[in-house]
Amino acid sequence: MDKNMYDVVIIGAGVIGAAVARYLSRYSLNCCVLEKHNDVGEETTNANSAIVHSGYDPLPGTKKAYFNVLGNKMMPSVCKELDVPFFKIGSLTVAFSDEDVETLNELLLRAKKNGVDAKIIDHDELLKMEPNLNPIAKKAIFCKDAGIISPFNLCVNLMENAMDNGVELKLNREVTSIDKDNGTFIINTKNGEKYLSKIVINAAGLYSDNIAKMVDADNFHVIPRKGEYFVLDHFNASWVKHTLFMCPTKVGKGVLISPTTSYNYIIGPTNEENSKEDTSTSADVLTSLKETAKKLIPNIPFDQNIRQFSGIRANSSSGDFIIEESEASPNFYNLGAIMSPGLASSVAIGEYVSNLIKNKLNLDVNEKFNPLIRKHFKLSNLTSDEYNDLIKHDPRYGHIICRCEKVTEGEIVDAIHRNCGATTVKGIKKRVRPGFGKCQGTFCEEEVIKILARELHKNLNEICYSDLGTEIMRYDVKGAKND
Ligand SMILES: Cc1cc2nc3c(=O)[nH]c(=O)nc-3n(C[C@H](O)[C@H](O)[C@H](O)COP(=O)(O)OP(=O)(O)OC[C@H]3O[C@@H](n4cnc5c(N)ncnc54)[C@H](O)[C@@H]3O)c2cc1C
Repeated sequence: MDKNMYDVVIIGAGVIGAAVARYLSRYSLNCCVLEKHNDVGEETTNANSAIVHSGYDPLPGTKKAYFNVLGNKMMPSVCKELDVPFFKIGSLTVAFSDEDVETLNELLLRAKKNGVDAKIIDHDELLKMEPNLNPIAKKAIFCKDAGIISPFNLCVNLMENAMDNGVELKLNREVTSIDKDNGTFIINTKNGEKYLSKIVINAAGLYSDNIAKMVDADNFHVIPRKGEYFVLDHFNASWVKHTLFMCPTKVGKGVLISPTTSYNYIIGPTNEENSKEDTSTSADVLTSLKETAKKLIPNIPFDQNIRQFSGIRANSSSGDFIIEESEASPNFYNLGAIMSPGLASSVAIGEYVSNLIKNKLNLDVNEKFNPLIRKHFKLSNLTSDEYNDLIKHDPRYGHIICRCEKVTEGEIVDAIHRNCGATTVKGIKKRVRPGFGKCQGTFCEEEVIKILARELHKNLNEICYSDLGTEIMRYDVKGAKND
């Protein structure tokens, strides 16, 4: 058999591709994931609000509503299995005007239809729950089941678990065209390789429409829209305790303020027309974001801002997720335009699609499937006795590399040597957080490069920041090329 012959090829290793891979690994099959970047989760999965929405907002009867509510229910146990940071902190959608109160009532009905636990909170109770909220707030919908998650760890750990259970991941493989021969798909990649497969799953996010058109010219269209954010340092763990949403209006959903799983705060997103590629931030947009966010909390400590970033939504003209087998090209599944709440829905979509494929290929159960990944040791999650024991066992856990986020050498080495391990500075940052803190990597980046080079048996000048071609130490201080 051709070594590149698979039962299933998944195109795209964002959270959707990773979730499908993980759930498919419950079955006995040859499955491979092709990803164009040098790591998983480098596009939309890397830049979003990181909220596991409760599901009160999507229109009843839509795919968004179905998968969001199911994904929200599944997330606590999946995150336990995969050791992913997840906190069920609840969300408050706040009304500031009579018109907003009307909207809250409609949203409450929608929540009930979607099967979401939601209730209206009055002004006094609301201010007790969130003392820093703008006191002109009238009411809010409280959804206790909303949560916050680390999208990076969710994606990486889903893929690690899929690989532990037999899935192959091929990075730096950009799919450029797809042919069909006698019912077999031939997937061509930019580096000249060919992958053959009975089934193709298109989980290419913003580019899912381009991939869909490779087998069916008349297909859906992704509409990219940018969202920009501020990230505040972890200056005070009780500044905001819930995810605070504005009431959606005809002009948009407004912005949110939320804690993150790393005890930072996130403020955003904006909503602008954009290309699929441009992830820049702009001073004008961020200035207007500041003003909008002040409606939720008037005294936001913007002096604690440590980073701005943007993510690009993959919206569809229908407004709903596209999760379907292509009519023109059977055995080709489009998981396209997975916009918000795609992160919250990811595990439910993964389970659903894997069940479709199981039935289609009549797959047997993978008797060796293990739903758990190897535990991570994180300084902040250990008691001092546990931490001391760990250092005795492996002294590298006593060597702090990132002072802002308190990350040890042991955690960095572990992140490199797992399945779906980090090979880049950004890969380390996403998995264990050095570079995410106040100094943004000024002190630790050089140490991280040295550890990567040592563990991967590479030269320092071969270590990339992210994609191939982003080597950091290519020139010495006098500008002479190192390689
Ligand atoms: C501003 C913003 C805020 C959001 N907030 C939330 C939120 O709070 N909660 C929530 O539930 N959802 C949220 N979302 C939505 C969520 O982020 C997405 O639904 C989810 O990340 C989509 O994952 P994906 O795997 O479909 O796409 P992606 O993460 O983009 O993954 C697609 C992958 O396909 C790869 N690829 C593309 N083309 C090719 C090719 N030709 N060959 C090989 N690989 C290819 C890409 O490199 C990429 O890795 C938000 C999105 C944005 C933009």
